[in-house]
Amino acid sequence: MGLVQLGLIHLQETVEDLRLEKVADLIDNGRWNVELIQEAFSPLTAHKILAIPLANQGNVDSIYWFDSTNGIYVCKSGYNFIRSLVAREEASTSSGPLLQAKLWRRLWASPALPRCKEVAWRAVRNFLPMRGELVKRGMQLDPCCPFCETEVETCGHLFLKCPAVERVWFASDLAIRTESFSSVHALMVAVLEEDDVDFIAAVQQLMYVTWEARNSMVFNGRKLDVGDVLRRSSMLKPWDDGIHIPQSLTASRPANWKRPEEGIVKINFDASVKNEIGGLGMVARGTHGAILGAAALYPVSVISPLLGEACGFRWALKLATEFGFRSVCFETDYLQLFEWWKKGSIGLSYLDTIVRECRLFTSAFSYFQFTFVRRSGNLVADFLARNASNFPNSVWVEEVPHDVDHLVINDALASSPALI
Ligand SMILES: [Zn+2]
Repeated sequence: MGLVQLGLIHLQETVEDLRLEKVADLIDNGRWNVELIQEAFSPLTAHKILAIPLANQGNVDSIYWFDSTNGIYVCKSGYNFIRSLVAREEASTSSGPLLQAKLWRRLWASPALPRCKEVAWRAVRNFLPMRGELVKRGMQLDPCCPFCETEVETCGHLFLKCPAVERVWFASDLAIRTESFSSVHALMVAVLEEDDVDFIAAVQQLMYVTWEARNSMVFNGRKLDVGDVLRRSSMLKPWDDGIHIPQSLTASRPANWKRPEEGIVKINFDASVKNEIGGLGMVARGTHGAILGAAALYPVSVISPLLGEACGFRWALKLATEFGFRSVCFETDYLQLFEWWKKGSIGLSYLDTIVRECRLFTSAFSYFQFTFVRRSGNLVADFLARNASNFPNSVWVEEVPHDVDHLVINDALASSPALI
């Protein structure tokens, strides 16, 4: 039974005096009437209703990267953009162009891992999918910082002002009083001016592990542990990055997984249904096959494998928006779901309802594609779905459980351009 259907039954039972008859009564000018919903339903039901994205009337809003012909963001284009911004800032400051350019080059020249430098840069540019920003873009979620739960989550709050994160900075040996900076940009300028590569790298690492801890909290409910965060930061070494492919390993079984095009995140998902209980699995990978995220969910009540696949699709779409992915390609190995999607669902079955909800989610992406792949191209998601009961409700950011490493390596090897 769908959330809306559940909500309607609840509606009939308990809020007759509010004279609500249709779901449309809960919608005001294309948006959920938050006040009314919170009054009419229990907090849990209200939260679930508000989590359902509404379709836009007329033109569908989308977010695209302005600096490329196809609207898809790629790192190189982002890098060029920041360079041009720096050039513009230089032209308008008295400190002179050379000094400013030299300063920002230090951000990329530090010995920290590329992913640490990128998070630091995205924090400076306000390009991380903070809840406050997502709500501004129309997403229905709680805008509060997951750590302190009092302030709106923004880059400035998370990295500088949040009491929980302040404790991390305080306990580190960096001796930075983050609360004295007005923005992450101001902090980074001060750090880069020190011109000490190890210091710059240490700050970037701490920002990265803060972001990682924030994701653990959001997706797995894991509380921030200052000691853990600092240990993790000190363990980040340049040789720790990317996927390790042991020389001795070769593609040991047929794998049909293909790497996504530049700038696109490929998301494979799958469901495994036994006795009307389903497990779901999803994995998101970037251009070079690097893991961006993975998740498993168990148990999910479903009456058929097809319904399980549709629920898996909806779940993976929602996670992709939470990860902040913008350009996505989803892949299923379930032909019936793919056919159902292609024919366009106009029916009234519960499956049609789920598929329509999936369609609503797609408007959150600037680029969206849905393709069919043979089962051998969907092995990682298949493994996570079949073993979901071992990790009932888990999300991994930039990693997968160790049990699935060999399949990720297998896919990366089989799709390596050098082997084609
Ligand atoms: Zn906070």
